[in-house]
Amino acid sequence: MGEYNFGIGKGKKNIAYINCGVGIRTGIISSGVLIRTINNVEDAFGHMVVDADGELCSCGNYGCIESYVSISNITKKFIDEIKENESSLLKKNLNDIDYTDVCSLGERENEAAMGIIKDSALYFGIGLSNYIKLFNPELIILSGPLIQQSKLFYETTKEIALQKCHIKNNNIQFIRGGYFEDKSIAVGACAMVIQKIQN
Ligand SMILES: [Zn+2]
Repeated sequence: MGEYNFGIGKGKKNIAYINCGVGIRTGIISSGVLIRTINNVEDAFGHMVVDADGELCSCGNYGCIESYVSISNITKKFIDEIKENESSLLKKNLNDIDYTDVCSLGERENEAAMGIIKDSALYFGIGLSNYIKLFNPELIILSGPLIQQSKLFYETTKEIALQKCHIKNNNIQFIRGGYFEDKSIAVGACAMVIQKIQN
């Protein structure tokens, strides 16, 4: 709502805002209308199943996007892989590693980190391509800690999403961060409150 009313989505009718962090949170505006999902949850997109035999998700299903994309899952996968290979790439205690380390190692072309981030972006990109086919958005704003910290994640997601849609000369605009960056959600919340008072 923040980006749609005051930010980069101003004047557009079909936009998606997806925040990747602890989980995946989504705001979708289609033909100028904010889409409400069942029970008004904002994490429906994150629980789209992209692999029927996939990993167990916190919701109880298997193969949800979120089970591959959350920052805790990425960190856990990296630590598991490092443990397995007994690599001493990091001088840090394994327990001190967080997603920012994994992201920055990915940017520095560390093989294990790159592999995990690309794998995560693959599932996210598949989900995003399903979304694009259904909603035909003009603008997709990807934001949140994972997008902020990892250019690799952002670029791979974009590439996979467009590739799986079989769209070559498309008009879909991808934006990293949005106009309000990490304040978009707060601006949107304000916009909704003001709107409610005015009505
Ligand atoms: Zn789930």
